[in-house]
Amino acid sequence: MSSASLSPILKQATPVVVESASGSWIHGIDGRDYLDFTTGIGVTSTGHCHPDVVAAAQAQCAKIIHAQYTTVMHQPLLELTERLGDHLPDGIDSVFYANSGSEAVEASVRLARMATGRQYIVTVQRGFHGRTVAAASLTTAGTKFSAGFGPLMSGVATTPFPDALRLRMSVDEAVAYALAEFDFLLATRVHPSEVAAVLVEPFLGDGGYLAVPPAFLAGLAERARAHGALMILDEVQAGVGRTGKFWGHQHTDGLVPDILITAKGIASGFPISAIAAPEEIMAKAWPGSQGGTYGGNAVAAAAGVATLGVIEREGLVENSRVRGEQLLAGLRADLAGVPEICDIRATGLMAAVEFGDPTASAGGPDSVEAARLAGMVQQSCIDEDLLTLTCGPTGSIVRIIPPLVVTADEIDTGVQRFGRAVRRVMG
Ligand code: PMP
Repeated sequence: MSSASLSPILKQATPVVVESASGSWIHGIDGRDYLDFTTGIGVTSTGHCHPDVVAAAQAQCAKIIHAQYTTVMHQPLLELTERLGDHLPDGIDSVFYANSGSEAVEASVRLARMATGRQYIVTVQRGFHGRTVAAASLTTAGTKFSAGFGPLMSGVATTPFPDALRLRMSVDEAVAYALAEFDFLLATRVHPSEVAAVLVEPFLGDGGYLAVPPAFLAGLAERARAHGALMILDEVQAGVGRTGKFWGHQHTDGLVPDILITAKGIASGFPISAIAAPEEIMAKAWPGSQGGTYGGNAVAAAAGVATLGVIEREGLVENSRVRGEQLLAGLRADLAGVPEICDIRATGLMAAVEFGDPTASAGGPDSVEAARLAGMVQQSCIDEDLLTLTCGPTGSIVRIIPPLVVTADEIDTGVQRFGRAVRRVMG
């Protein structure tokens, strides 16, 4: 008889084994109730097991589970497309589906290359786009995502992120610097006529939970348009209310992407992703060039319809904005003057506490020492029954990702627990 165990290749952020979960809480088999400020990496937007999502998925299971959407169409997907259409930017009127964020990224690259007949995709430094080959080739949020995987996809170039904190510049100066670097890239490395798309997260996720300055996004979009390239916005983590607006890019006035991809929060934990673009762009790709066995699964689509209903009915985008402000104010008040912390930031419910002293040559942001502290704080949070994650190329940033249904009391509890966890580590 043989036996198997889970591979150590899966690096576990916590030792928690879940018995059940509801709302903002995970109940462990150890009998403890953990406040879940990870939401499964920004996925359980309506909280764990929202009754409406559970009911919709259960009802759909009894009707049809797997309808294979390029064989037979099903109602939940038609309905999800219609409901999603209410939120998509003007002109983005055509949608297809996959299962994960990485697949949606891959699909968007294929679509952009087919639609433009060009090869290059320009991405932004510290961006995270997934773990499959194309997605990993576009990812610069940490070498661990691509190490040992080469040769990676060709036709990728990366341009600097306007990182005011690390550049030690004002945001305006950092934006001017980063846009000049983008122009320089197109003058020296990739000719503008070869750029199929600029692909960017409207709010950097795994690369550091850093807000992307609107002037930078607007500058990239303007340049993409001028050069006949498409603007792809990866809203996989920042979309669906996470940043206090329905889409992360809505913080930039007037920005309309050519291709928008979404996943994670769209179905409260069921695997589904969407790729949306104007029909003229979709029409330039061969019919049948996209698809897949499981994409647009009926149960996931039904959960997606229920998720959008809950978000709209319960005012969760607004809750994200208001609770995010409360979280930011609470963390800043509680952790003021902790010398090892260099930045506390939040846009909606994408919050981060960054370790490292930006003026120090050793132990600064992204340093090994900063990562050691962030890792200790994240682990110390578990002792406080609070679940958080780290992010950033070295793991030097603790990210706090409550569900969009989080209450004011739960935010206060989370802030108190986080503060105690920090003080235990810092002594
Ligand atoms: N893009 C972004 C912005 C992400 O945050 C992620 C996941 N963290 C992905 C793509 C990849 O998604 P998945 O893990 O579902 O493949």
